[in-house]
Amino acid sequence: MILLGSTGSIGVNTLEVAKKFSIVVEALVAGNNIELLNKQIKEHNPKVVVIADKADVSKVNHSSVFYGQDAILKVIEDSSSELVVNALVGFLGLHPTLTALSCNKRVALANKESLVACGSFIDTLKIQPIDSEHFGLWYLMQERPFERMIITASGGAFRDWDIKKLRNATLADTQKHPNWSMGQKITIDSATMVNKIFELLEARWLFGEGKYDAIIETKSLIHALIDFKDGSTTAHFANASMQLPIAFALNAKMDENILPHVDLLKVGSLEFREIRTDRYPIWQIKDELLKNPARGTVINAANEAAIKKFIAREIGFMDIAKNIIKAYEKFDTMPKSVDDVFAIDREVRRYIG
Ligand code: NDP
Repeated sequence: MILLGSTGSIGVNTLEVAKKFSIVVEALVAGNNIELLNKQIKEHNPKVVVIADKADVSKVNHSSVFYGQDAILKVIEDSSSELVVNALVGFLGLHPTLTALSCNKRVALANKESLVACGSFIDTLKIQPIDSEHFGLWYLMQERPFERMIITASGGAFRDWDIKKLRNATLADTQKHPNWSMGQKITIDSATMVNKIFELLEARWLFGEGKYDAIIETKSLIHALIDFKDGSTTAHFANASMQLPIAFALNAKMDENILPHVDLLKVGSLEFREIRTDRYPIWQIKDELLKNPARGTVINAANEAAIKKFIAREIGFMDIAKNIIKAYEKFDTMPKSVDDVFAIDREVRRYIG
């Protein structure tokens, strides 16, 4: 396989799973964490490596090192691997997803921004999502008619904060996730609940039209639920680890144990909460977005631009959602082509500034 984003949270977990199932790694793609990348090169012996910046090339212990966006696409095009695992973060993951699909490769997709921004133009039949909620829904699906698909949210770092204090929340505060250890951006997205908006859109592209919703389950042990027409509801329980969805996405033989089972007696009790718009203002546009999922292009670009400003301390935490909603109201266009997706993305970023 080719692994994009090998030094990130999903990338590291993917290499663990690859090792367990003896999957050959043809190429590793990383950003700036060269120290970890060098360790990965030693262990997995890829044929080729791509990093973000030219300045770091000499620090990489490999004879075939390339850098930059175009090199990522070229490595995908030139590779013999059938599987590309895309664990890059953000819109920069979209081009590699499109290239991998146009080369007829199977894509194990953690980079949810690809689907959120460009879902109308991606053939989801060739995609295996790496996300616990979609894995959970897929696991629960049966032939029986169902009424509603529900995914769960942890509530993120601020689920128990006094709402009045949220506008002063810092980047460091956003990173104190109660249940998961993930990359910086998705942990911010979890605190704003944008991550769950993204996952609902992802689900809509993957599973088609239907009723989708999300609720908070504070221990992140239930990842998805399905309400069947007959009145039954089933739930997918698994411990909070990405290795299970990754293992399925890599198509490994699943007759061995990947995770310890959830011990319900030790868990004792579970708590569910409504996602409220006072704590998570982005939730105001959830229903409308689900009716028009192609507007995800705007939401994704506005979110990335607003996060950049938040990290630079130009805006406060609650301004992230405000900026997204402002952009959503301003740009009510939907992309008619992939080129349009890139054009809208640029325009929205310029608008947020
Ligand atoms: P991380 O921030 O931990 O990892 C991102 C990876 O992308 C790193 O390897 C980073 O390299 C690399 N990268 C960043 N910029 C560049 C660049 N310009 N060129 C090459 N590589 C680059 O993110 P996560 O692993 O948490 O998330 C990855 C994706 O998976 C996101 O879309 C996220 O939403 C999704 N996801 C994550 C989950 C999780 O549990 N973490 C769960 C479900 C989905 P480096 O670090 O070396 O700079």
